[in-house]
Amino acid sequence: MAKQTFETIEKKRKLFAQRVLTMVLVFVGVFALTYVIGLAATRHNARALVEPTETVNTDDKQGNDKQGEENGEETPAQPAESNGHTIYLTFDDGPGPYTEKLLDILKAHDVKATFFVTHVFSQYESLLKREAKEGHAVAIHSYSHDYKKIYASDEAYWADFEAMQQVILKQTGEETTMFRFPGGSSNTVSNDVPGMMTLLVKEANNKGLHYYDWNVASGDAGATTSSATVLQNCKVGAANHKNAIILCHDVKEFTVNAMDEFITWGLQNGYTFAALTPETDGAHHQVKN
Ligand SMILES: [Zn+2]
Repeated sequence: MAKQTFETIEKKRKLFAQRVLTMVLVFVGVFALTYVIGLAATRHNARALVEPTETVNTDDKQGNDKQGEENGEETPAQPAESNGHTIYLTFDDGPGPYTEKLLDILKAHDVKATFFVTHVFSQYESLLKREAKEGHAVAIHSYSHDYKKIYASDEAYWADFEAMQQVILKQTGEETTMFRFPGGSSNTVSNDVPGMMTLLVKEANNKGLHYYDWNVASGDAGATTSSATVLQNCKVGAANHKNAIILCHDVKEFTVNAMDEFITWGLQNGYTFAALTPETDGAHHQVKN
């Protein structure tokens, strides 16, 4: 009896030990499987987060990736989420001595802008070709940019306009319907001939042309010669307008020198940069003459 009882107890003990071992193995197995599935899902999600940024802003992403590697983090680069604001950088009076540098900056950021061009610095004429080739809008400003001459009569204005159109056609292979009046449509430099701007705006509309003023001034038309002030004016203007048409001049070196930092700031803060199109609202000023 005593022996039987001992054997029974031994058997039960072994059976219990086997069950515990089985339970432990099952538990470990389930835990390991859950961990592996979880890891795979995390990696997949991380990839899904990264991929869309590549088309948005390649330069910025590369910069952030490098930072991530240095910190030993696996966290993907966080692109600036769009803040719904579009910046239309517009550059008047060129091409000139600083236009090539500006084009390099725009290219490095893959940002498009609009050039309202002249023939004042005629030796830079061929840069119109590069502007167009790199996806910027090339639009008419004036051939001579001589206020007295162009605003003497509507015939004089359109003759100057057509001369610039021919230069653009020669360099880019295309004509444009987009332009900016020298001094803007609200200028008073045309006051010698009363009603001149009212007449030109009417004639432009009849010709199916699109003119653009601006709702943000960088300040480089006379208010400042400081890159820091241009930068600040551009930032404030972009923040205050859903569609900011910023007046700049690529013939001003201090303006061109502010652009790398401004564009970097814009991209990091979710702004979209774009070139003007005939469909863009022209931010028209009130005509004063
Ligand atoms: Zn101008």
